[in-house]
Amino acid sequence: MIGRIFVSTLMCLSLLIASQAFAEDYPSKVITMIIPFSAGGPTDTVGRLIGKAMGESMKAQIIIENVAGAGGTIGAARVARSDPDGYTIFLHHIGQATAPALYRKLSYDVFKDFEPIGLITDVPMTLVARKDFPPNNLQELIAYVKANKDKVTYANAGLGAASHLSGMLFMSAIETALTTIPYKGTGPAMNDLMGGQVDFMIDQTTNTTSQIKGGKIKVYGVTTKTRVPSLPDVPTMHEAGLPNFEVAVWHALYAPKGTPKPIIDKLVKALKDALKDSNVKQRFAELGTEPVADNRANPEALSTHLKAEVDKWAPIIKKAGVYAD
Ligand code: ASP
Repeated sequence: MIGRIFVSTLMCLSLLIASQAFAEDYPSKVITMIIPFSAGGPTDTVGRLIGKAMGESMKAQIIIENVAGAGGTIGAARVARSDPDGYTIFLHHIGQATAPALYRKLSYDVFKDFEPIGLITDVPMTLVARKDFPPNNLQELIAYVKANKDKVTYANAGLGAASHLSGMLFMSAIETALTTIPYKGTGPAMNDLMGGQVDFMIDQTTNTTSQIKGGKIKVYGVTTKTRVPSLPDVPTMHEAGLPNFEVAVWHALYAPKGTPKPIIDKLVKALKDALKDSNVKQRFAELGTEPVADNRANPEALSTHLKAEVDKWAPIIKKAGVYAD
């Protein structure tokens, strides 16, 4: 009996030492960051900036793999099944909190299958339309879509995408259901918007700012309480006539459940460094956002936030009666 306890203690100890030695060498090869939306879209843009800066901090290469579809749930499922060795990490947004209520048959659990690393940024949304969409301000747009509800089309990136959630809030605010066109990300949706194949969408400033500034699309409002400094001429939705229409798309970083704590600690440190990186700060500002405060870039803050967001969205989604099987 005593012998058996001794052997199992010894085994635990050697496992611990092995995982510590493994963590000391970490990272010794390329790290893959999974982005659950298309390349060239808003989440991809945030991921590439953060991945590059984290890689510099850890003296490692971080490559981006876009595993898009179903509002981010395909990429999340892939991460949930990945080896918890620190070589797969996951950048997702608010969709991580809404998926449990939206998808009846989710193959993963947002709490049990992921290790939180930290929050990254809260990105404002903009209501944008194809350049030749007739309405010229938000009031005109609301009247126009109500009068033409059978022919106007709204683009989104699938159930649970920020563009879908905001569209849901918008349709409920104007009490009008519209035809939605789903994409694997708002990167491809933006191409169709600029090409005139779809009428309008609500999308992150990380995807819309340069097209707005370049005059390639029309903009009707930002979803923040106050105006976005990089888009000073764009009114808030509240100013433009939709009171209290506020949405911020929080982004966060995770690893598969079971990733050793010493590795998570290294990833947290790299994330914190990335959020202080001058290129990240400058690009974020140009794209209408900023890094979160340092005390939100850690596992505890993300855990608390995720739980609060899951609890916040579940009744809203239930009431809206939106779900996927
Ligand atoms: N974040 C998504 C993307 O990168 C779009 C969305 O959530 O609406 O394409």
